[in-house]
Amino acid sequence: MPPYTTEPDFFVQADAHDILSSFKNEFYFPTIQNQSAIYFCGNSLGLQPKKAEHIIHSELNSWRNNAIEGFFHGSHPWLYYQEYAKPTLAKVMGCLPHEVTVMNTLTVNLHLLLMSFYKPTSKKFKIIMEAGAFPSDQYAVETLVKHFGLNPENTIIEIEPEPGKKTLTTENILQTIHQHAHELALVLMSGIQYYTGQLFDIPAITEAAHKCGAVACFDLAHVAGNVPMQLHNWDVDFAVWCSYKYLNGGPGAVGGLYVHEKYATDTTFPRLGGWWGNDEKERFKMGKGFKPKANASGWNISTTQVMNTAALLASLEIFEAAGMEAIRNKSIALTGYLEFLLQQLPHLSFEIITPSNPNERGAQLSLFFKENGEAIYHKMLENGIIVDYREPGVIRVAPAPLYCSFADVFAFYEILKNNF
Ligand SMILES: *Cc1c(COP(=O)(O)O)cnc(C)c1O
Repeated sequence: MPPYTTEPDFFVQADAHDILSSFKNEFYFPTIQNQSAIYFCGNSLGLQPKKAEHIIHSELNSWRNNAIEGFFHGSHPWLYYQEYAKPTLAKVMGCLPHEVTVMNTLTVNLHLLLMSFYKPTSKKFKIIMEAGAFPSDQYAVETLVKHFGLNPENTIIEIEPEPGKKTLTTENILQTIHQHAHELALVLMSGIQYYTGQLFDIPAITEAAHKCGAVACFDLAHVAGNVPMQLHNWDVDFAVWCSYKYLNGGPGAVGGLYVHEKYATDTTFPRLGGWWGNDEKERFKMGKGFKPKANASGWNISTTQVMNTAALLASLEIFEAAGMEAIRNKSIALTGYLEFLLQQLPHLSFEIITPSNPNERGAQLSLFFKENGEAIYHKMLENGIIVDYREPGVIRVAPAPLYCSFADVFAFYEILKNNF
């Protein structure tokens, strides 16, 4: 890619050479004043893949025509519905197909896996997480700790940025882990911090946690479909994510989880079970005694959520065709272009909170506008650009590489340049 410039010729050339540009046609865009919008909110809710309708419709047909037999017949028998997501999800998350499954939603899965992995003793009971974690994660950990009769105040250690900083350093995180080594039971970090857009050093955190005999687990809500992972090779213990952000699975889509094979294949590993985690061959025998499957689906509990998984399958076909490596390469170029253009606006009073090192971020940049934040958000909407606004003045812009172009990023810059 040639060096970035503010000339329109740059984005014209960049889009012309973009090997992923045709994937834009695979999605529906919201409209603003009858015009197709530019969508930078894939970090909150990804766009609808056009194929979603077809695949949901085919399951509606199977229900209509096969009724109960739909569990065994049709193009995708429901009995194995979670299986169809595994091959591509394994590539997206960097793990083995038997280490991944889909079920429930993110926070529910986080609770279930914490119940499996958090084994506090009088000596080792502390949990480390980042300060300002997504509220649902905070509530999950707070209530988990109380469930075990512990006091959140002296059990949960929150890592704060150094004074005057908005993001954490890896050194900061590793130091906190070492500091609490003797009492540490578990480290739960987000992969990408939802507010700052910071991507944490997952392998380094995992290694440090393991050195202290603690569990290393991650909430990958903002990572899944955004940044390629190597969860298995990094020896991460478990991870959970939702499928409605960069994975475009639709509102309330089935969540995903990864459990390292050393636990996934161990049917004696503790868990809260249900019939869908039981071996399929014996499931309908309705016998006594839970026999978990020897893979991540051994954590499945309830009947597979067919309609909630169907749209995800449509989206995963796109990820399979595009490939995570190409997605990440474009993402780095696209977000780098956004950062470059923003740096050409020194008269605007704002700060890019997200780290400038591409290895420490995904698609999203979080911009803190000291003034006009809300006005900028509304001006963007008026001009058909959807971004996310949060008090006090933070605009999150996430150019998702599957459906955002270099021209889209330039349009955002032009509105800022010409109006503020
Ligand atoms: C989006 C998000 C969630 C959402 O959890 P649900 O249970 O799917 O509602 C949780 N944690 C993080 C870090 C998120 O970004």
